Amino acid sequence: MFKIHLKEGTCDWKQFGEISPKLGMIVYYVMGRLVDFGIQEATITSLIRPKDKDCGIHACMRAADIRIDFPMDIAKKIEQEVNLLYPYDINRPLYKTIIMHSSDDYNDNGIHLHIQVHKFGIKGNK
Ligand SMILES: [Zn+2]
Repeated sequence: MFKIHLKEGTCDWKQFGEISPKLGMIVYYVMGRLVDFGIQEATITSLIRPKDKDCGIHACMRAADIRIDFPMDIAKKIEQEVNLLYPYDINRPLYKTIIMHSSDDYNDNGIHLHIQVHKFGIKGNK
């Protein structure tokens, strides 16, 4: 069975219930693709960040970070696929739904998939 871990001290299940529904949908889509590739577990390292520490999209409940502790070629495939299927903002095609990031304070000095959503990315959904 696939297991989702939440990095202790940076995010919790209560936050998972508060994020943008569209973000939750894409996070679950990514998890589903990991299952397809035979991955057994994944760790979310950051969801909602306090507004005093992050003025960006994590503070707006529209971003999630998943640690890449699975093969990089799988991460790249998922990144390409999601960016094709779920545009971040149809009016700003240069912005992407998934960006591969190296570290910051919330991410254990490791590379992660930063997933972000915009209200205009998927028609009819907020
Ligand atoms: Zn992020």
